[in-house]
Amino acid sequence: MLLLWFLIAFFLLVVILIVLRWLLTPTRCARNTKRCRNKGDNGAKRNKCDKDIKLLHTHFDVLDVPESHGTTTLVLSCIDYRFIDAVTELVREEEEVEFYDTFSLAGGSLGYNQTVYATWPQTFLDTVALAKSLHGITKIVVVEHMSCGMYKSIYPDAIYPKKERLHHIQNIHDFKTAMSSVEPTLTVHGYLLYENGDSERIV
Ligand SMILES: [Zn+2]
Repeated sequence: MLLLWFLIAFFLLVVILIVLRWLLTPTRCARNTKRCRNKGDNGAKRNKCDKDIKLLHTHFDVLDVPESHGTTTLVLSCIDYRFIDAVTELVREEEEVEFYDTFSLAGGSLGYNQTVYATWPQTFLDTVALAKSLHGITKIVVVEHMSCGMYKSIYPDAIYPKKERLHHIQNIHDFKTAMSSVEPTLTVHGYLLYENGDSERIV
């Protein structure tokens, strides 16, 4: 008889532990993605969403901001992987902007000014228009860098640093002039990064 009571008590304890674990574990959807959090308003959709997710082992930090989030700034930079961290650091220190929208064209302003790749300028303008309506940006910060392959491909004399610097300056000024006619409400600032980590304000 004692053994029977013991087995019943053990069975109840196991059931209670299973129920508690189920109640206390947040759903993957609600915890991890905005897309699924939105779908999570509906129970059936949330279950479907749970099945769609294949979680990675790494956890990624995502800013937890209201739906109506915004930023003042869109940064246009070159695609060059060597300068990604430097661009972020420069914008935070010089522009005092912690979070910003971003767009990359090879060469930065040259990517917009050039005529070899016909779709690039319009793609950039479309993105700027979206960033204005979605996030309310008021400023474009273009950040370029020395030893840029795009500049060397467009300007043969850009193999000489002094010449390359002058091309950057000219293109950033041309870019600012172009923006003043197509997006006159936006302010444009421009910087040039050097390979040793120095930087120069152009406009
Ligand atoms: Zn580059």
